[in-house]
Amino acid sequence: MQGVYDVVIIGCGPAGLAAGLYSARAKMKTLILEKGKTGGQIVTTNEVANYPGSIREATGPSLIARMVEQAEEFGAERKSDAVVSVDFSEKIKVVKCEKEEYRAKSVIIATGATPRKLGVPGEVELTGKGVSYCATCDADFFTDLEVYVIGGGDSAIEEAMFLTKFARKVIVVHRRDTLRAAKSIQDKAFKNEKLEWIWNSEVAEIKGEGIAESIVLKNRETGELTQYDAHEDDGTFGIFPFIGYLPLSDIFKDLVDMDDRGYLITDDDMKTNIDGIFAAGDIRHKSLRQVVTAVADGAIAAVQAEKYIENAFHE
Ligand code: NAP
Repeated sequence: MQGVYDVVIIGCGPAGLAAGLYSARAKMKTLILEKGKTGGQIVTTNEVANYPGSIREATGPSLIARMVEQAEEFGAERKSDAVVSVDFSEKIKVVKCEKEEYRAKSVIIATGATPRKLGVPGEVELTGKGVSYCATCDADFFTDLEVYVIGGGDSAIEEAMFLTKFARKVIVVHRRDTLRAAKSIQDKAFKNEKLEWIWNSEVAEIKGEGIAESIVLKNRETGELTQYDAHEDDGTFGIFPFIGYLPLSDIFKDLVDMDDRGYLITDDDMKTNIDGIFAAGDIRHKSLRQVVTAVADGAIAAVQAEKYIENAFHE
């Protein structure tokens, strides 16, 4: 079947790249589609400490660079083309992108998730002008300035600690009085002298003329609003919300089964409700979203795609 891929993988993070590696290594004609930056969320992480065997200096970007190299060494093709819609109704699946349309015997969905936004006035306008969702990418801009980190989970606390390497002071704003982050991460954070804490508070507004200048916090117990202004000599500060993620599954709505939050439902073999369609990584409904679980999902999905093709396309 000319022009038909065995496997089209949507998404180029750890799950997509692991699927690409396994698929290409099994000699299947493999295409990995990426939208925007390669690597997914892990490239926004400076330290990958809990991926088994990762070397001490491994960063998100360095780990991804090696995964890309490895998938390509085995023959996986990679294209930058954003998916617009899919047609999974026939045996040959169609993935329509902005530039081209791709046809495949099977599809692995590894689109991942995107940072949740605060949804407060000023956030959109000041994104890239003080508000950032990626410490690894933007920490440098805030060297010797003050930084506010919003959230109390693993991401918020780990990224807050990373930001202390650049910022003069990092203030963590959390909506409760206890952190959600793992105890080991909390222990490290509470010893970090450059971290300050504002508890029981949420962001009400971000203000600034072309650059973030003030943040308004609301105390959830008293309802009191307090405005914190950038230091006069600084003129600005950083605001990094790390308040969880949203699955990137909109294009699969009403096609692929998903839970009430939009995460795709699969069985243990990464099979969705549609024959030949698999899902892997953070896009799946599951209990642990980590690089180690994403790459495992990707490997399983590719092996199952191979089995599916063998059966479904056996002449
Ligand atoms: P998360 O665990 O869902 O934590 C989100 C945090 O943001 C929570 O503290 C939550 O508060 C807060 N939050 C949610 N909505 C908010 C809002 N509108 N305003 C203010 N605060 C809000 O998300 P995550 O930290 O990004 O982690 C996601 C997953 O990745 C987790 O499974 C985590 O374990 C994993 N992860 C692991 C590591 C690691 O192991 N090294 C590193 C990063 C991430 P509440 O606590 O009040 O709900």
